Amino acid sequence: MAKVAINLSTGTIQKEEIIVGIDLGTTNSLVAYIHPEEKHPIAINDLDMGTIVPSVVHFKGAGEVVVGNEAKEYLLTDPAHTIYSVKRLLGKSYQDLGNHKDYFGYKIIDDNTEGMVKIRVGDHFYSPIELSAEILKELRKRAEHALKTPVNRAVITVPAYFNDSQRQATRDAGKLAGLEVLRIINEPTAASLAYGIGLDPSEEKTIAVYDLGGGTFDISILHIQQGIFEVLSTNGDTYLGGDDFDRAIVDYWLKENNIPTAELTQNKELLQALRLSAEEAKKTLSQADNFVTTIGNITCNITRATFEELITPIVQRTVQSCERSLSDANLRKEDIQAVVMVGGSTRVPLVYRTVSDFFGKEANNSLNPDEVVALGAAIQADVLAGNRHDILLLDVTPLTLGIETMGGLMDSIIPRNSKIPTKAGRQYTTSIDGQINMKIAVYQGERDLVKENRKLAEFELKGIPAMPAGLPKIDVNFILNADGILKVEAQELRSGVKQHIEIKPQYGLTDKQVEQMLMDSITHAREDVATRMVIEARTTAEQLLYQVDRFVQKNRQHLTNEEIATTTAKRQRVADLLSSDNQEKDTILKAVDDLEETTRPFAERIMDISIREAMTGKKIE
Ligand code: AMP
Repeated sequence: MAKVAINLSTGTIQKEEIIVGIDLGTTNSLVAYIHPEEKHPIAINDLDMGTIVPSVVHFKGAGEVVVGNEAKEYLLTDPAHTIYSVKRLLGKSYQDLGNHKDYFGYKIIDDNTEGMVKIRVGDHFYSPIELSAEILKELRKRAEHALKTPVNRAVITVPAYFNDSQRQATRDAGKLAGLEVLRIINEPTAASLAYGIGLDPSEEKTIAVYDLGGGTFDISILHIQQGIFEVLSTNGDTYLGGDDFDRAIVDYWLKENNIPTAELTQNKELLQALRLSAEEAKKTLSQADNFVTTIGNITCNITRATFEELITPIVQRTVQSCERSLSDANLRKEDIQAVVMVGGSTRVPLVYRTVSDFFGKEANNSLNPDEVVALGAAIQADVLAGNRHDILLLDVTPLTLGIETMGGLMDSIIPRNSKIPTKAGRQYTTSIDGQINMKIAVYQGERDLVKENRKLAEFELKGIPAMPAGLPKIDVNFILNADGILKVEAQELRSGVKQHIEIKPQYGLTDKQVEQMLMDSITHAREDVATRMVIEARTTAEQLLYQVDRFVQKNRQHLTNEEIATTTAKRQRVADLLSSDNQEKDTILKAVDDLEETTRPFAERIMDISIREAMTGKKIE
């Protein structure tokens, strides 16, 4: 279907609307497009600020937000208002973060539940989705400025290991930035497309994509056949990258100059200067054999041979990951027909040599390793725009399929544009103690509230054994076959009770109606996301009230009167907000945070008592 767009800045009619490809990275992001005349992908370099936009968001006060290089400058001077690495939090619950929460210099809200993480900046609470949306808005703005045309549609990349909720979160971030996300594609798939691998539908290949960035390492093994990219295995280390090379150089200089590490913890400025020089040294050594500089009266000198010796153990760790990913895919090195290099750190000659030697073939590194993912995303965008006929477009489902969750929210299970046949699932649990039935209502559509979408069917999973809330594990699976028939299965894993239903989702919807539903989702994107956030905040608050009440009731004898009184007061504040129908998500979350801060010390103390009593053979309720 050909689309006509009007270029608002030039007032001319443009036949082909440009769809951009976006690499939304942990440290850096960038946007690319296919040049309409030259027909090849180009990373957008607006106002000669370079193609790379650091994935950093800074809140200046008075609601002003800055993103990119300008925001990066505040990392040291104002860390509490400067958010980096938000991709690490996307689609994650606080429990998912585990020990890594100390890695972040800003405040992550600890609600100790399975709810999604929130970040507190001053009196505001932001979800990683909102923060990622700020980065996407900046990329969109740069693209619009450089291309002089509105940019409304995009393909966004994610790591191959991203789960459903992380992919959904990325999609939501796009929506919030005013973009229609045509497809979420895997970063290694994009990198491979950038090298033209997989563009010929008749070729069948198994390839390895080695991605070493500043702070993360990923290796993915892909099998490509008839334009379908199947991920056979992934491996890596989410805390390994070029930053470790820099640290190795800093440690070496400290040793050479007899500076004790303790001195450095006192002198943050010296540490920062050393780190910056170390990165400069590393980059220089990608070309030269030697690097020298002075910082104050310290001489910092390093040769390429020494650098390579220092980083060999780090590079070897990536090789071990490559071995594991091969064995997970049941393959030998010889089975890999091409190797693709991604990420700035693959410019280090030792890295390139080690990877090429390991796989026994020269790795592809002719493209800029910082840009390849965005370039590949632009190629995919061009395919979706219908500008390329050399690639097979798979049959896709036109609208998202999902189920209703607490507060009437739509939880998407199979996102729109997924190729069919496909299968996807998610695990749910009960919200009330002793709950024995669960309603599964299936919807189709792009809106955040189910009431705005189209209901396809509803059934009840009966006979869940009575257990405390949160214990039952209910798997809901959607199986969409090649004819577009959807089968929904629900099973409680502990007892094995099962129920299923078959539906034809397309039934009764004309192309026009599908288009209208998509248009509505774009028009209402902002208010939808805002409503979803309020509902999520209210649900978190309701669940906390339930837990706190249960906790106080069970442990009354271990609490002082004063503790009970403060808890009751803070509890009341949350309850009042809920009953007053308050729609201010930040106010609700602040009250929730207050109540949690109050009860956490008692909860921890009572946990200790309970362990002690358990050890002496007694049991408390
Ligand atoms: P990425 O996360 O893919 O943007 O990669 C950024 C990492 O690549 C950082 O650790 C950079 O220091 C590193 N890097 C960039 N250019 C070079 C270079 N010429 N030689 C070595 N490392 C580099």
